[in-house]
Amino acid sequence: IQQVDTDSNGTPLFDTNSFRVVCSCPDGDRQQLESRSSNELYVCKHGKAALDSVLDATASAKIKANKEAAVAEARLKAEERKKYLIEQRQLQDREMPGERERIHYGLSKRSDEDIAKLVKKAAMTMDGLKALTKIFPEEVMPPKQTIRCGRCDQEYDPQIPSDSVCREEHPEDKCKMMWDGSKKSWEHCRRCGKDFRLDGFHSWGKRKRDDPEDEGPYCYETVHVPMEDYDEDNDPIMQNLDDSDY
Ligand SMILES: [Zn+2]
Ligand SMILES: [Zn+2]
Ligand SMILES: [Zn+2]
Repeated sequence: IQQVDTDSNGTPLFDTNSFRVVCSCPDGDRQQLESRSSNELYVCKHGKAALDSVLDATASAKIKANKEAAVAEARLKAEERKKYLIEQRQLQDREMPGERERIHYGLSKRSDEDIAKLVKKAAMTMDGLKALTKIFPEEVMPPKQTIRCGRCDQEYDPQIPSDSVCREEHPEDKCKMMWDGSKKSWEHCRRCGKDFRLDGFHSWGKRKRDDPEDEGPYCYETVHVPMEDYDEDNDPIMQNLDDSDY
């Protein structure tokens, strides 16, 4: 058998009049007849195994072809980009001699903090702002668009990856200082059950079996959920917390 055509969902398409699966087992004799009368393909278990291996081969051949196409496209794009940048560099050297070196040098001699200050200062004038909108178009710096998180109630901007961290520190009034002897202490949060702020324990060497483990300063740490998608009753994170007052 050769490769088998599939529809867009990957379901194999057979022409049951011309497609033949022949096997010498007793079931094999019946399959051709049943396939003809029902317009569906009936095969014995041996035929199925053979077909499955053909379909697997077809699928993996397609995946391989897709992968190769993607790699080729990426390589082409990278080459185009490289060519474009070489052209740009030549253009810079011609039209703005020495300027690239001057800017590179200036940037290398300033801290990130100083550079941020200069940029913010530039945003105060018309010319400065015009230059900045060219360097930072909306694709790079989208306008502020905040929503509220259903879990922690904090406002956040889903367009900014670093803005998506959803976490709550252990609330002071739910934390209790614990002691082991007079030298070892730690805090225990009864909201989440975690131990943290260990003091007097060796950070190296063997942990004793009963020693608490530092589980960090947060009751939970995950990503925000937009208010409208949030279902408090089906949030395992909140269900693990004890928010009762006692
Ligand atoms: Zn068979
Ligand atoms: Zn906690
Ligand atoms: Zn949140």
